[in-house]
Amino acid sequence: MPTSEPRIARSAPASMDETLRIPEATRERPVWLRVGTLLDGVSTTPLKGAHIVYDNRRILFAGANAPPRALVPEGRGAPDLDLPGFTLLPGLIEAHAHFFLEGGELDLEKRAAYLEQSAERLLRLAVPRLEKLARLGIVGVRDAGDKHGVGLALSKLYANGDRPLMPYVDSPGAAIHHRGRYGGFMAEAIEDFPSPAACVAARVAAGAHRIKIIPTGIINFKKGAVTTQPQMTADEVRALVASAQSLGRQTLAHASGDEGIERVLEGGVDSVEHGFFVRDDQLARMRDRGIAWVPTFAPVQKQIDHADGMGWDAGVVSHLRRILAAHAASLVKAHAMGVTVIAGSDAGSVGVAHGIDFFYELELMERAGLSALAVLNAATGAGSRRLAFGERFGRIEPGFLSRFLLTCHAPLEAVSNLRKPKLVVFDGAVLESGANVDPAGL
Ligand SMILES: [Zn+2]
Repeated sequence: MPTSEPRIARSAPASMDETLRIPEATRERPVWLRVGTLLDGVSTTPLKGAHIVYDNRRILFAGANAPPRALVPEGRGAPDLDLPGFTLLPGLIEAHAHFFLEGGELDLEKRAAYLEQSAERLLRLAVPRLEKLARLGIVGVRDAGDKHGVGLALSKLYANGDRPLMPYVDSPGAAIHHRGRYGGFMAEAIEDFPSPAACVAARVAAGAHRIKIIPTGIINFKKGAVTTQPQMTADEVRALVASAQSLGRQTLAHASGDEGIERVLEGGVDSVEHGFFVRDDQLARMRDRGIAWVPTFAPVQKQIDHADGMGWDAGVVSHLRRILAAHAASLVKAHAMGVTVIAGSDAGSVGVAHGIDFFYELELMERAGLSALAVLNAATGAGSRRLAFGERFGRIEPGFLSRFLLTCHAPLEAVSNLRKPKLVVFDGAVLESGANVDPAGL
């Protein structure tokens, strides 16, 4: 019925039935929607009463006015569907996850036993997570490293034309650390190679889309501080970054403690991962040098949430709370200063389940003091712009993939609304995303 009026789905329907009538987009038959609120992933104001036209591959048009006639499916003068109570936003980007680890597992002995399994088995256990993530609305994942090749195998699976329903995945493969220092469970030693350049070249030859380095240790929760000296000098970081750049690869650096952060900033990495104990002057340099920050609140918050099981007493918990309060204050400052903040949960860490706890990370960023819109931009457009993914997603703009979310539970009121039932448009197909995701294996 090409000339009919658009069907209108009022806000907050009792079920998603009405919206499920969104037709599947095909190349020949693009879909035209009007939505109450459109978040494009980068703008600092939402677009009201916006139009979008997309086919099964890409977004063809997005804007406040009706699309030009040439883009409108033949003979139609009105949108396929009018959704005034709905928010449309880009599919989400999880910028720090470890697919080789099962995050939801809290038992440290079981976690150790899990890692005793073969690389093939770890990969088989990771594959079922992919469809769950896509159905939650996560369309891109930057794996943050493993020495078992799970992330690399998943990125190859994505590149396969015959792939299952899954987000885009890329991976650095094995992270790079110093033998005997922190990170041995996910990294291989720089000492295995005659030079930093040879080490980076080997990673790239193995398929690494980016280079992950571990220049520091981690927080000593009992002491409430980073108590070990950084693993790498600024010169070592600089050499690894230069080698990565010469091969067209970005560098992401695990860094906590201001001394270690200093070295990765001077070394010129693309992103600081975790960044606990970052100083204000370091945030200013990150802004000035275009170095992004992925603050990963969730793994530390989970230590508080499960303090009893972890064996932490009141003293340790007070350290953890102090560290997170300072981290929250730094996040608010970083955003106000103009640092590129990108959301990543460190899924796979103790208690941090893949997918589900990405929403927790967003909630923690909001609780820290960012606006919901700032958090949503950190979870979409910021990573899309900065992280040089191999595909275009995470923004609502012509040319970007048709992978986005539609929800009648306004995420601008609280990012936790993203956990509620929503629709995920994935390459033009419409998936219903329920509130309950089976957490098994995540
Ligand atoms: Zn990590």
